[in-house]
Amino acid sequence: MRLLIFGPQASGKGTQAARVAEHFRILHISTGDIFRENISQETELGKLAASYMNDGNLVPNEVTNNLVKNRLEEEDCAKGFILDGYPRTRNQAEFLTELNHKFDAAINLQVSESEIIKRIGARRICENCKTGFNTIFIKPKVEGVCDKCNGKLIIREDDKPEAIKKRLSLYHELTEPLLDFYREKGLIVDINGDPIMDEVYAEIIQKLSA
Ligand code: ADP
Ligand code: ZN
Repeated sequence: MRLLIFGPQASGKGTQAARVAEHFRILHISTGDIFRENISQETELGKLAASYMNDGNLVPNEVTNNLVKNRLEEEDCAKGFILDGYPRTRNQAEFLTELNHKFDAAINLQVSESEIIKRIGARRICENCKTGFNTIFIKPKVEGVCDKCNGKLIIREDDKPEAIKKRLSLYHELTEPLLDFYREKGLIVDINGDPIMDEVYAEIIQKLSA
């Protein structure tokens, strides 16, 4: 099974992608996670990615395309995968098309603007192990402290207001038009992303299994 997932910032895209991957026993490949791992390990790619990400900009297409191409060539991808955070631009969608993987569906998580604003303000990440929390939905046991490693919970650099404004507008301008591209191919599965996580997850599994 090969899936794509689209959704604006704070749509729950990463969380749902991880759960869907577990359900179907496929890989969860998140370009954002790969960039963040490289940033925390201070690799060359990480340094480059951080210079774009921290301000809410996209990492250049050639860099991201190469990264995805190499990742998808690894053997473990044979069991199937869900691509989270890619493609994000017309250039990336065309590049992906040329890689010739046959996709089964593209999940489109739809979340209202007011819900997005509310959620982003609540998003936190562990400074140490990078686990995501949310002061509304996935509350840590102790406020401001990571359940897993006791690390400090902070606001992701690119979740700060200026960066978020830019990321949301980039999503509308560059990524949303790709939905038509995949809709024409008959791949889009529309999902209402407003309800609580478990409900959204149930709708995804039900629609993908239908
Ligand atoms: P979100 O979906 O909330 O923006 P992600 O974790 O998917 O979070 O992405 C975080 C950042 O990583 C993006 O703002 C961008 O800078 C970079 N990034 C991730 N995927 C891509 C991509 N396909 N193309 C360019 N940049 C990307
Ligand atoms: Zn932690």
